[in-house]
Amino acid sequence: MARTPLMAGNWKANLNHQEAVVLVQKLAWTLADKRHDYGKVEVVVVPPFTDLRSVQTLVDGDRLSIRYGAQDVSVHDGGAYTGEITAGMLSKLGCSYVVVGHSERRMYHNESDELVNAKAHQALHGGMTPIVCVGEGLDTRQAGEHVPFTLSQVDGSLDGFTAEQVAGLVVAYEPVWAIGTGEVATPDDAQEVCSAIRERVREVHGDGAADGLRILYGGSVKAANVGGIMEKADVDGCLVGGASLQVDEFGGICRYY
Ligand code: PEP
Repeated sequence: MARTPLMAGNWKANLNHQEAVVLVQKLAWTLADKRHDYGKVEVVVVPPFTDLRSVQTLVDGDRLSIRYGAQDVSVHDGGAYTGEITAGMLSKLGCSYVVVGHSERRMYHNESDELVNAKAHQALHGGMTPIVCVGEGLDTRQAGEHVPFTLSQVDGSLDGFTAEQVAGLVVAYEPVWAIGTGEVATPDDAQEVCSAIRERVREVHGDGAADGLRILYGGSVKAANVGGIMEKADVDGCLVGGASLQVDEFGGICRYY
């Protein structure tokens, strides 16, 4: 099954709303200049919550083909939960995607697979696609336990989804030791785990789910190394952190083909 490659830029806690507008405009120009084929690669930006309205206005106003998403979502539908941002709020802002279970949230906010799973369900019920992040830390990798560790995160995070739903989801394999470190996994490292994820999904949910699911690699991806990673059969795109803040880098990543 042909899966449309997806390049998602996670801005993390960077850029105010004016800077966000400038970056999206420059990205749109860069991709237009290079005749980016939006049918070939889907481009998504994932700004902080406070920038979403500005990005929405720009994307709608200029009819840009760039999609956008949020970095997190509440497990609650709404009500007395101070500080929470609900799926309903995000879908009203035109978000297509929600990143859940990023390693920084698992690490600094103690997010468990159970919580990540609940957030993924909230996103999907709100009409958005969750980008479910999984991946091992350095100790686990050095112990050679990276595949079983990551698969157990996949099992926990995808619990309760139907095969049809899984076919439309996105999983991002992001080895924690490669995030923001400049230490990129080799294309073979990425393929090893991405293919194990797809095979686990095949066992649990069947062929349709496994063949439809898009699996991204994330961890120090740049324009210079994206080509080798994207050649791998089970890598359907990248979740990009630092390089997504630089228009030439992210433009180059989106135009890897
Ligand atoms: C990320 O934050 O998801 C990420 C992959 O970051 P970086 O590209 O900076 O390693």
